[in-house]
Amino acid sequence: MPTLLVKNAHVLVTMDDGRREIPGGGFLSRDGVIAQVGPTDSLPDTADRVFDAAGMLVLPGLVNTHHHLYQSLTRAVPGAQDVPLFDWLRCLYPIWANLDPDSVRVATTLGLLELARSGCTTAFDQQYLWPNGSRVDDQVEGAGEVGIRFHASRGSMSLSEKDGGLPPDSVVQDHGTILEDTARVIDAFHDPARGSMLQIVVSPCSPFTVTEDLMRDSAVLARERGVRLHTHLAETKDEVRFTLDRFGKRPVEYAADLDWLGDDVWLAHAVFVDGDEIARMAETGTGVAHCPSSNMRLASGIAPIAGYLSSRVPVGLGVDGSASNDSGNLLAEARQAMLLGRVAVSPGVGEGPQMPARMVLEIATRGGADVLGREDIGALEPGRMADFFTLDLGRVEFAGALHDPVAATLMGAPVPARHVYVGGEPVIEDYHHRSIDEDRLVEQHNRLAADLVR
Ligand SMILES: [Zn+2]
Repeated sequence: MPTLLVKNAHVLVTMDDGRREIPGGGFLSRDGVIAQVGPTDSLPDTADRVFDAAGMLVLPGLVNTHHHLYQSLTRAVPGAQDVPLFDWLRCLYPIWANLDPDSVRVATTLGLLELARSGCTTAFDQQYLWPNGSRVDDQVEGAGEVGIRFHASRGSMSLSEKDGGLPPDSVVQDHGTILEDTARVIDAFHDPARGSMLQIVVSPCSPFTVTEDLMRDSAVLARERGVRLHTHLAETKDEVRFTLDRFGKRPVEYAADLDWLGDDVWLAHAVFVDGDEIARMAETGTGVAHCPSSNMRLASGIAPIAGYLSSRVPVGLGVDGSASNDSGNLLAEARQAMLLGRVAVSPGVGEGPQMPARMVLEIATRGGADVLGREDIGALEPGRMADFFTLDLGRVEFAGALHDPVAATLMGAPVPARHVYVGGEPVIEDYHHRSIDEDRLVEQHNRLAADLVR
């Protein structure tokens, strides 16, 4: 069993139950699983691979809990730059209708590489339209190139304009096709084991793009197969109006009535909820993917993260799709979460304590692992996977911030991860991916993006 010794970290951030931060710390992993954590002089001297982290922070790999990787092809599209969610979608649906297997695969590789460069070692993605023969299989192929843990989903849309939904006919599918392909994808790819590199989630898109029947049957299928459920909910006031008009209830009640609350469910955004709805999510263990950049970019609103945390609702962090961010940098997203958490308590907006950097780092690591239902990642402690990244404290961005470099990861400008390891194996070393030719990938991605937006 190959061993890895990480030693001499300026600070090792464990995110263990005691939230220990160990100056001069390190750990030993065996076969990708952490065996021992502590000050370097308490660890064995040798291993098959020795990683000297002197001058670096070592942190648990970040976990992304909401994304639409294909959207990296449609960043900053004119017409979708300065409008709210529904108009933004109406502008982009016809463009996304041109996606195909190639563009889906390449966008998956590009988007996951971008996440990895920001310290992310596990990412969930929700693709909910599958035009021109594209399939989850294309994403799985693209993700394999990058080498971080991937939670793909068989997303879906079934409620088009003609039935009172938002998307055009060109991007929706019928009920039977969706459920059949979802079952196929779970059988083909879902690996529930500890250390899993690939899992499948069932994820119909949102109340205004999916029929109630599909929501209900998706939940039944996911529970039969033991996989998790994810959807967008309560993202905008327009959506609240939609569910009130169409179903006579607010989004959380709509979800509850379709059996869509539970500890196997997490919801993207969940901005417009009241105290009773937060309590209901807490009682059922329903999680939240907080996407602050997207919520600001689309002027959607501010999610009540402090309320979720004090009620013990599981909260993870998500960059959301790269067309409403317009990037996939999870460390930058964590900084945004910290800053938006402070706007949320500013005069005239709300009240309460300021969101500390460490609380956001916890959401971005352990919190994300909880939301994805994983007990084997999210912290550097014995029994969990050796997923970590390093930040070089010699960089200009950290100059003068060594009073508290852990907080400085978010107080200052986000810097790229110098090293990223997944299961004790390097994915990024000295800022470069182990195998991907980044220039070639960007060129290919730009070509596909230009073809798409014609
Ligand atoms: Zn989204």
